[in-house]
Amino acid sequence: MKSSPPDRIGIDLGGTKIEAVRLSPTGEIRYRHRCATPHGDYDRIIDVLTEVVEMAQLSFPDLEPATVGIGAPGARSHKTGMIKNSNTTVINGKNLPEDLEQACGYPIRIANDADCFTLSEAIDGAGAGQAVVFGVILGTGVGGGICIDQKLTPGVNSIAGEWGHNPMPLDRLNSAITLPLTRGRDCYCGQRDCIETWLSGPGVAASYAEMTGKSLTAKQIFDPVGPKATTQMVFDIYCELAALALSTVINVIDPACIVLGGGVSNTDHLASAIQKRLLHYVFSDQVDTQVMAAHHGDASGVRGAAWLW
Ligand SMILES: [Zn+2]
Repeated sequence: MKSSPPDRIGIDLGGTKIEAVRLSPTGEIRYRHRCATPHGDYDRIIDVLTEVVEMAQLSFPDLEPATVGIGAPGARSHKTGMIKNSNTTVINGKNLPEDLEQACGYPIRIANDADCFTLSEAIDGAGAGQAVVFGVILGTGVGGGICIDQKLTPGVNSIAGEWGHNPMPLDRLNSAITLPLTRGRDCYCGQRDCIETWLSGPGVAASYAEMTGKSLTAKQIFDPVGPKATTQMVFDIYCELAALALSTVINVIDPACIVLGGGVSNTDHLASAIQKRLLHYVFSDQVDTQVMAAHHGDASGVRGAAWLW
């Protein structure tokens, strides 16, 4: 008799919390768990992740062991196997998947959290069935991932889709629009006017602060958009810049679908407002690329980690 394929465990290792799910072979969530990420202590992180894997395995003790995938900020160096570029800085320079494999005894696959988000949305989310999906994280930072035929394309440098540190091409802004903001935003990566400095949550807050002299978070500014003229103006400029920045992605990989995730994406009408501005910037007489909100919302990171197997 043919045995059924194993379940999949996905773990999202965030800066403040660890989330885990166990998916059935067809993608239903059978088990969920959430706990705090130990702060600044790598060995404790490995201990807690080991416990999380064990609990998820023991949640269905009669089934064969599930596969285990992890999504984490940063990327894994092909050269050394070590994690790099992670804002959970204690995992940088560590071989997290190997250390966790030794601790828990199961093979581990790991991918960038934006890649996991994209994979989840490409497999059974907003981009399901589409050949090329570009997943976008608009949150504390700006990241992205590329899925082709429901498979991740990590790239030889493990940075495919990292459009957040390309320059925002401000000189190409629609000439009908005057940018009421100062150029030359410094980025932590050492460059200036990275897309992230304009489209991240802190970027939205910086735009609002420059226009009003007041300090609010992106969530406060965009929730809801419109009761004040200034919040509407910040939103309109944001959508214009997002369309401008995404047009450079469309010109290169021509995706069928762009899925928006991350905290800033939880803004009503954001996808449609970006969509209607694309035609001005894309090198085409029509734009069939669909900009969509994430289907699985905040759960896409952890679901995508499970889909790494
Ligand atoms: Zn940068």
